[in-house]
Amino acid sequence: MKIADVRLILADIPVKRPHKMSFTTLEAVNFAFVRVETADGLVGWGEAACLGGPTWSEESSESVAVTIERYIAPWLIGRDATRIEAVSREMAKRVQGNPFARAAVEMALWDLNGKALGVPVHRLLGGRVRESVPLSWSLAVESPDAEVAEAREKVAQGHRIFKIKTAAHPVAHDVERVRRLREAVGPDVSLRVDANQGWDRATALQAIRALEPFHLDFVEQPVARWDGEGLAEIARAVSVPVMADESCCSTHDALAIARRGGVSILALKLTKSAGILGTMAIARIAEAAGMSCYVGCMIETSLGTAAYLQVALAAAPVTWGCELFGPLLLAGDVVRRPVQYADGVILALDGPGLGVEIDETLLKEWSRAR
Ligand code: MN
Repeated sequence: MKIADVRLILADIPVKRPHKMSFTTLEAVNFAFVRVETADGLVGWGEAACLGGPTWSEESSESVAVTIERYIAPWLIGRDATRIEAVSREMAKRVQGNPFARAAVEMALWDLNGKALGVPVHRLLGGRVRESVPLSWSLAVESPDAEVAEAREKVAQGHRIFKIKTAAHPVAHDVERVRRLREAVGPDVSLRVDANQGWDRATALQAIRALEPFHLDFVEQPVARWDGEGLAEIARAVSVPVMADESCCSTHDALAIARRGGVSILALKLTKSAGILGTMAIARIAEAAGMSCYVGCMIETSLGTAAYLQVALAAAPVTWGCELFGPLLLAGDVVRRPVQYADGVILALDGPGLGVEIDETLLKEWSRAR
């Protein structure tokens, strides 16, 4: 399985409604798609989704494209695509950081291997431990009335888990949003909160304590990614479980979080952790430290969603479900048959490789002229 060709496609897909988070209000997701073809003509695909430029981390779809085209593709051509671990290690030596770029390439290698063997990627990861994954929908709506209406509509469609994006407003406003949402969805629906690093330590403590009456499952990334001590301190001081997202990208981050204690859940994302291998390793560290996991997203199309889903199906420590709702929020997709949802879950994919088929004509419609 000699790699013969590596191509990059930049694309932008609008979201169906503006998505308001602490760090940006998203109007469109920027994508870098990577197409890897072997000498035998087998094609694998990978995707890096970026939230409107380098907002979530330092990487943007443009930086991903340049990194892959200039510093990865030239040496990748001629390499053996079956050697995923070896290629990933060499990639990590040649490219420091840039996990989104490395993840997109690694994803394409998994897709190629699954397709070559005729099995879904989760089979290569040890097989499914679950048939479907509970799905969280993110509420990040500008108007509180529209937000309550959206939650009610989603509950009617079978959604049972919501994540409320906070810290774009003063604490009192967020507390009022959560109060209204709890009132609207009733006591049996799961509510979670994601501050996306938007609070300092004191504000985080004040906010989480004020939110305690609304029975949240967890609070995600209340403080800045660099404030590991603060995260541990807050987690110890409140009764709501605390999840690390932006603070937990690498295996080294996961190990440091485990050592500091306090935090009880890690959010897994293939792109922040440079691919499936790194993500599975973080899940194992979480489990060994008595923590559990959740599969987050960067609002991927069905392609990236399919890749994340392979991990959500195969990683036993993922007991908090996932938020693989990208295809439901995006105004378009790039595959022939999108990932499937039913009754508040995302369904397993059992097709070969990542389990979806790219529609290159559809992809072209969203592509940028370069
Ligand atoms: Mn998050």
